Amino acid sequence: MLKVMTVHFPFQNTYSALPDNFFARVAPTPVASPRLVKLNRPLAIHLGLDPDRLSSPEGTEILAGKRIPDGADPIAMAYAGHQFGHFVPQLGDGRAILLGEVIDADGVRRDIQLKGSGPTPFSRRGDGRAALGPVLREYIVSEAMAALGIPTTRSLAAVVTGESVMRETLLPGAVLTRVASSHIRVGTFQYFAARSDAEGVRRLADHVIARHYPQAAGADRPYHALLEGVVARQAELVARWLLVGFIHGVMNTDNTSISGETIDYGPCAFMDQYDPATVFSSIDEQGRYAYANQPRIALWNLTRFAECLLPLLSDDQEKAIAEAQAALGEFAGKFDTAYQAGLRSKLGLFGARDGDDALAQDLLDAMAKNQADFTLTFRRLSDAALDPALDVSVRQLFADPAAYDEWAVRWRQRTGDEPQDPAARRDAMQSVNPAFIPRNHRVEAAIEAAVNRDDFAPFEGLLTVLSKPYEDQPAFASYADPPEPDQRVFQTFCGT
Ligand code: AMP
Ligand code: MG
Repeated sequence: MLKVMTVHFPFQNTYSALPDNFFARVAPTPVASPRLVKLNRPLAIHLGLDPDRLSSPEGTEILAGKRIPDGADPIAMAYAGHQFGHFVPQLGDGRAILLGEVIDADGVRRDIQLKGSGPTPFSRRGDGRAALGPVLREYIVSEAMAALGIPTTRSLAAVVTGESVMRETLLPGAVLTRVASSHIRVGTFQYFAARSDAEGVRRLADHVIARHYPQAAGADRPYHALLEGVVARQAELVARWLLVGFIHGVMNTDNTSISGETIDYGPCAFMDQYDPATVFSSIDEQGRYAYANQPRIALWNLTRFAECLLPLLSDDQEKAIAEAQAALGEFAGKFDTAYQAGLRSKLGLFGARDGDDALAQDLLDAMAKNQADFTLTFRRLSDAALDPALDVSVRQLFADPAAYDEWAVRWRQRTGDEPQDPAARRDAMQSVNPAFIPRNHRVEAAIEAAVNRDDFAPFEGLLTVLSKPYEDQPAFASYADPPEPDQRVFQTFCGT
């Protein structure tokens, strides 16, 4: 394969230096005629990459997997995973190839991975490819999450390959360049644990400590500290999801990142009307991954992680189990603390008082009962904090507006006891209650235009709005609107 000198990736690879059974060395499969449809220029610069060179024909070929940049060490990572509760001992990167790692402007090591770049030894019966629709969905939602301030993998680029992929119909193929602080998953640990490869688990744990939990290296019990760290980050992450109405959709252990980033955007979606039982994914028939189940599932996944670490926690199995249980036992408290603090901020409460949890829950209950839009309720509540005359815009979101009025009296009593002025409260609330989320009907419309009409303008427009989710952006006010009844999306589909 041709080497190219024009685009310099400052690779410093560490994962490919791990033992051979951690991955398969495999190059991307070249595609016919790649065309760059989106480059994330600010992210490129942050990664030390030249956006102009990346968007050149040579750069596009790299982003399509047609050329291998100097210093890349392309691999498909091995992992296992529980899918909907069922263990699969070998999954692995079936359609993704890690080119290598770079250090970003913040000094953080980041994986650069091509997703949809052709078959690997882990492809099983899959074609190793991705369709344009799911690539754009991942691009939009991951970048929206980043702008919301939620830990997530990022999207550096999307290219169409010039080839079709066969799904239910023929669809345009695409490759997403994904950036992650690593692609190590709970399922990566499970891969070695399932093979009783204690040395593999240890090597992986040491790599993860050095890379993501350096403070654990100096702890009395480093592997215990690692477990605690992973538990803490997952608890925090899932709390953040709930606070913006995000539903991951496929919280399998192979889709649970050890670094605490949101990863693997498939049938993910944000809910419009607040309903804790919301499920969008077409394959989640039992509602295992429903909105309100996410904390419980995160703990279930963490328990699978802890099982992998048992041999590292203690030679004495009973002691190891007790240690694991102690670390897992911290999940509920950590989640609750993060979630309740987040709700207080959403309500504009600067301090914490007894009764705040109930005040928040009563609003959520009223929203659920009255089909109120989750995002709009909190955003408009922010304005109402400044001017009670704006209550009218909140109350009209409730099927029975009186349900809001009753609650608002209690809320004003509570906020009235705090010294902050209304403008400070409104500003604080606006900084945590987004005006703009990637609403499903907008995401679908952007995908439809790109896939069926090669029109990327709606995709670009949506990305622009979502890059500043906490700003009002009056010119784009309609992007804040919930779907009309005929625009509502009830189901989303996997990215395969
Ligand atoms: P996902 O549901 O996207 O998280 O993927 C689950 C597993 O299926 C992973 O091992 C993927 O690499 C693999 N996979 C998904 N789609 C494909 C595909 N088109 N070709 C090969 N492997 C795939
Ligand atoms: Mg996955």
